[in-house]
Amino acid sequence: MTSTPTEKAKRIIEHYGVSHQLVKLCEECAELTQQAVKCYDAGIEYSYSLVEEMADVKVMLMQFESIMLPEDREILEFIIAKKLNRQIGRIENENRRFEETPRESREN
Ligand SMILES: [Mg+2]
Repeated sequence: MTSTPTEKAKRIIEHYGVSHQLVKLCEECAELTQQAVKCYDAGIEYSYSLVEEMADVKVMLMQFESIMLPEDREILEFIIAKKLNRQIGRIENENRRFEETPRESREN
């Protein structure tokens, strides 16, 4: 029987337990951090190792999302949208301030 990625994620976290998977989440986040630092130090946008760790963290997040109540998943999506919009707002404000700054003041 085929199952969706969400169903597989739910099966994994139900098998190992939330407590165990919280530790795994910490480990995977630390591994992702290490690879991000390596990319930064190497001056590259991403590497295969970074992609692997991104996948690991996403799989962990999928597990936790799979056990959340539907209304809490909606709250998660709402918070994500809010944070994305807030950051876009900051970028637009930065650009506006830059454009409003006289050219003479920008140089130096
Ligand atoms: Mg990993």
